Amino acid sequence: MIQLSSVSKVYPGGVAALRDVSLSIAAGELVAIVGPSGSGKSTMLNLIGTLDRPSSGTVSIDGYEVSALSDRELSALRATRIGFVFQQFHLAAGVSAVDNVANGLLYGGVRIAERRRRATAALERVGLGHRMGHDPHELSGGERQRVAIARAVVGEPAVLLADEPTGNLDSVSGAAVMALLHDLHSTGTTVVVITHDRDIAASLPRQVAMRDGQVRS
Ligand code: ADP
Repeated sequence: MIQLSSVSKVYPGGVAALRDVSLSIAAGELVAIVGPSGSGKSTMLNLIGTLDRPSSGTVSIDGYEVSALSDRELSALRATRIGFVFQQFHLAAGVSAVDNVANGLLYGGVRIAERRRRATAALERVGLGHRMGHDPHELSGGERQRVAIARAVVGEPAVLLADEPTGNLDSVSGAAVMALLHDLHSTGTTVVVITHDRDIAASLPRQVAMRDGQVRS
């Protein structure tokens, strides 16, 4: 599903954030990418999420080599195959939970009634069927992250990328979010969790340990 071959990323100014990284993640895996601050995790997430391109080496997602695609094709790949969950939730303020999730389907030209129907199902799946009409500010942090997860998976992406998904949550809400990611994994979604938290990484079946821009183990 995800293939990085000899990938390096050098930022303007000369910082080598990734150095000759090769990594394969098979369809259906649940993987932690773990490492201290500055080890290259966000850079890796941006490359896997096709938000950025490598300086050298190749990145393939679901069989598509990123360097062979135009920006437009990359947007399509991202919109249809990759779901994102961020530490800061990134929900739209003043927009109900159901519409925040429905907006995850804007790319595909799905009609509003169908978007809302699917958003309702996605919110029920994350246990928020009773919060459809709530604005983000009326929800707890854990509930906000579950809305964000519903938005990320409403389009049934092949890959879910979660960047420090429990970073802003108390331990109980964090555990609920991790349980949800396990649940999505058990139904076949490939899930990649970026974290600096060793306990969270240790709770996942595979850990890719990063340090100084390289995979250490
Ligand atoms: P992590 O997510 O593990 O904290 P990052 O991928 O953010 O690591 O950063 C890896 C290295 O690349 C760090 O030295 C960081 O300062 C540098 N870096 C990250 N983004 C940029 C950027 N846009 N421009 C220049 N340097 C960057």
